[in-house]
Amino acid sequence: MPTALISHPACLDHETPPGHPECADRLRAVLRALEAPEFAGLVRLDAPPADDESLLRAHTRFEIDLILQVHAAEARRNGHSYIDGDTSMSAGSARAALHAAGAVIAAVDGVAAGRFGNAFCAVRPPGHHAERNRPMGFCLFNNVAIGALHARDALGFKRVAVVDFDVHHGNGTQDIFFGDPDLFYASTHQFPLYPGTGRPSEKGVAGNILNAPLPPGADGRAFRAVFENLLLPALDRFAPDFIFISAGFDAHVADPLAQLNLDESDFAWATREICAIAAACAGGRVVSALEGGYDLDALARSATAHVRALMEAQQQ
Ligand SMILES: [Zn+2]
Repeated sequence: MPTALISHPACLDHETPPGHPECADRLRAVLRALEAPEFAGLVRLDAPPADDESLLRAHTRFEIDLILQVHAAEARRNGHSYIDGDTSMSAGSARAALHAAGAVIAAVDGVAAGRFGNAFCAVRPPGHHAERNRPMGFCLFNNVAIGALHARDALGFKRVAVVDFDVHHGNGTQDIFFGDPDLFYASTHQFPLYPGTGRPSEKGVAGNILNAPLPPGADGRAFRAVFENLLLPALDRFAPDFIFISAGFDAHVADPLAQLNLDESDFAWATREICAIAAACAGGRVVSALEGGYDLDALARSATAHVRALMEAQQQ
């Protein structure tokens, strides 16, 4: 089965202040790189917007209204609205956030229906810092958590896992998953680093949260060792029937926001390993969504390496 690439032009209309690392050029770089001939076989879809019912599975009414009513109205009036020191909305942000979450939902629906085997959602704003009741850290809605809960609560998948290799800890996904033993969240991330969570002692219930922090300066070998020794065995034991990837590429050596020293081959390797577990227990069902990655060249190379690995997993 083919791999899908799901995005929406509205994701380019979420404008951040000048010089902000999370900018529309990130998504342009990813989409341009995925125009190369080797990606001609991708099924390309425009994401629909997420509906209210889907948002409410991961977020409170308060947080949804804060974004779609309060800050959206101010952004329409003033051109921008600040949520915190590094998270803001422009006039186009509410629509961007709805289509970003909707992309992951559409990916889940397509994979579940067998229209494609796995999918990459090239979207922004990113999502993994958005908690149940609080947008933060460049994130408005938690796209991956919304998709994961759609898979479980709307489509009936029983055990849903998220693997997050963004260099930052996905505090939002951990917050949303924390008390639910049928949801599994595993993260490698630099520690200490923003947002300050992600200690190994944060374990959720029945070990459904696995945090595997890496110290500043850790390289691909250290990253792969943590994956092989901790993360992949735990994912395998959890035996998910649907796997999501929070695909942030800011652990790349060239990234300006953190100090890990990975390269695109490490992201491709991690993707292959996750897909191998998906093939064994989840019918190959993998939905990946873009999180961070702030060096445009490294981001483009990493995203293409990641998508190439998703495509190869479907050819085996
Ligand atoms: Zn990040």
